[in-house]
Amino acid sequence: MRITSVDVFQLKSAGTAFTAFPIRPVICRVNTDEGIYGFGEAGISTGIGEHAAFGMTVDIAKQIVGCDPMDNEVIWEEMRNRCCGHMSGGGVVVFSAMSAIDTALMDIKGKALGVPVCKLLGGKHNDKLHCYVSQVQQGWNGDYGPRGEAREYAAICRRVMQEGFDAVKVNLLSFDRDRAPISRNLTTGPLKYDIYRLVEERLEAIRSECGPELGIIVENFCQTDITSAANLDEIMRKYGVLFVEEPLATFKPELFHVLAGRMRTPLATGERIHTRWGFQQMLNQHAVSIVQPDISNCGGISEAKKICDLAHIYDARVQIHVCSSPIAEAASYQLEAAIPNFYIHELLFMSPCEENVDYCKVRYKPENGYITVPELPGIGQELTEEAMATSLEHVLVKD
Ligand code: MG
Repeated sequence: MRITSVDVFQLKSAGTAFTAFPIRPVICRVNTDEGIYGFGEAGISTGIGEHAAFGMTVDIAKQIVGCDPMDNEVIWEEMRNRCCGHMSGGGVVVFSAMSAIDTALMDIKGKALGVPVCKLLGGKHNDKLHCYVSQVQQGWNGDYGPRGEAREYAAICRRVMQEGFDAVKVNLLSFDRDRAPISRNLTTGPLKYDIYRLVEERLEAIRSECGPELGIIVENFCQTDITSAANLDEIMRKYGVLFVEEPLATFKPELFHVLAGRMRTPLATGERIHTRWGFQQMLNQHAVSIVQPDISNCGGISEAKKICDLAHIYDARVQIHVCSSPIAEAASYQLEAAIPNFYIHELLFMSPCEENVDYCKVRYKPENGYITVPELPGIGQELTEEAMATSLEHVLVKD
């Protein structure tokens, strides 16, 4: 088999009406001389950076036309050699583009062999994936917008539970009681009593409304530093928080090791870390309990599998970071099915919005808080003709 061309699309945005961080998917479709094609996503598609991801995916696509897509790991190493040498040295733009290509190649490989990608990764450890609803401070499934008062946090968590879920992730430091953004000056260093109290009143309200059955994950989104994150540990322990995500900026891996020594709440991070090399130091120092690589920026699904295996050596569990279109979501199902150290699946608050699900052909929906891993060949998801036809930008790279 031979790669004949690559389509690169920047799709219309999803969620612009209700979030400052809409999804702006950059997706490639790798085409072959046997009529089989595969889809992959470049992960700088939420917030800012989609033009960089689009341009780099086009540039890398030029390098792979003519290759055999079944040689996906050979192609990966060649992409890394070409992109990480000279003046580039890698980085999120390069690895996002490589991720899109890598995932598309695995999609082709699965389709060519008639098996889901989880089979290519070694088989299915998990038939169903336990899900949590992510970022409920911004609402959920049609009821969108920032939450302020503690009772609003309790109410949205109650609603999520009524739909069959038993776990949420919530950022307690995004918005103040009037739903205005909280300045980072107030969330770093020694915390003022009112911030400490804000976090406690929200956790207390959620716990008393939802009971001990609800799993609560706290998202810090790098808004805290080593002092303020450690300051909040006592409250998180009091309300049984499962783990805290991104308590520190991830370009300071050595500080995670120090923070882990000061906290009892397990630490998680990974959505801004790329490749095995990026995760090695934190794992080697036993600094994180949960790793959260993003298939669309860590180097693709084959690289994410290696990161998960590396984490397994250190007793670290995995929650793939999912913050993109249903293409990346479907790829995450396949990987999470195929790893023994899977912990929980992230279902983004805006994932069910129509603009997002309309990108793709298959509509996967959790039942009673679990996603059944698809059996379709490849990653089990494709863009619709409509999504491709109405894309904001499209480049066809060919011989
Ligand atoms: Mg996060």
